[in-house]
Amino acid sequence: MSKKSKKISALQEKKGINSPEITDSKAVSKLQSKRKKQPSSKQLIKGILEGNITALSRAITLIESNSPKHLEKANTIIEACLPKANNSVRIGITGVPGVGKSTFIEALGTHLTGLNKKVAVLAVDPSSTITKGSILGDKTRMEDLVKNKNAFIRPSASGNTLGGVARKTRETIIVCEAAGFDTILIETVGVGQSETTVHSMVDFFLLLKLSGAGDELQGIKRGIIEMADAIIINKADGNNIKPANLAKVEFNRALHLYPEKASKWQPKVNLCSALHNEGIDSIWDMVLAYIEQTKANTYFETNRKEQNKYWLLQTIEAQLKSDFFNRELVKSELKKQLRRIENQETTPFAGAEALLKLK
Ligand code: GDP
Repeated sequence: MSKKSKKISALQEKKGINSPEITDSKAVSKLQSKRKKQPSSKQLIKGILEGNITALSRAITLIESNSPKHLEKANTIIEACLPKANNSVRIGITGVPGVGKSTFIEALGTHLTGLNKKVAVLAVDPSSTITKGSILGDKTRMEDLVKNKNAFIRPSASGNTLGGVARKTRETIIVCEAAGFDTILIETVGVGQSETTVHSMVDFFLLLKLSGAGDELQGIKRGIIEMADAIIINKADGNNIKPANLAKVEFNRALHLYPEKASKWQPKVNLCSALHNEGIDSIWDMVLAYIEQTKANTYFETNRKEQNKYWLLQTIEAQLKSDFFNRELVKSELKKQLRRIENQETTPFAGAEALLKLK
């Protein structure tokens, strides 16, 4: 069979067309264009609101795209999804590579789908531009969950900046919620500011840790403990049970040294073995207790509003910055000013002033 007819038969097979006479190139391109035809925003919105996963995935691809045309379409979709969003619990999960994040998400996600919940797993990984999203949210790392019809797993969007990745993830949360996902798990690894970023888009923030040899608090970023609503000591199984219990005592002591949180929630330390599915149900019960408490004292609602205000400002900032740096005049003048700094002909402030004054 010639290359061309092979192509046609592949297309026919895909579309269920069975007419071997179609061999001219016009027909090929017709079939191809038919195949490539993208659904309209309206169709995608309808699909998302009906919980259609293909429509949801396509919308996320538009959100993640850098093409202005796609982004315009994405904005229309997000706008339409907004009234149906917000009705979920958003949980951030962080921890160093190897701590067991995927294993934990697989266990928690399976537990939740067992409770008839619909779980979306997203990731914020600013390094994914280099690794092509293979560090986090990689589907092969959550083998059972990926097959589960009530779970949706999406690897991290790629982008040059954490801000860019974060914005796309926030928009993805909205479309997932509109598609009926009531629990959103957002995984991140402690690269730069990624934990702070994820913290600013979730209701509950979980830090996964391993027990060590009594040096649990060493090498841990102070800010992370402050952000955590719970510290989960994973791999509390086999020979690790005793050190895990000791770590629990130490973390509990450390947590009590921090000032009271605005949520009035006292962060908890739990043990778990994600691998053996132990402790997962009590972790979920704890999340439920947190939600109950923070909904009763209105923090839950206030926090989401504050997060939205923060994101509005962030979006403006990012847009202004990108508009500024993308101006041709700025690009050339910036090069000039950087050179002058290099040659010690100007100060950073005078250089910045000259750039900002450009009309
Ligand atoms: P991630 O990089 O944080 O996502 O970590 P993974 O979930 O990929 O886990 C890293 C390794 O730790 C894998 O070999 C897991 O099987 C193992 N692991 C994860 N959770 C547990 C646990 O609870 N107990 C034990 N013993 N091993 C675990």
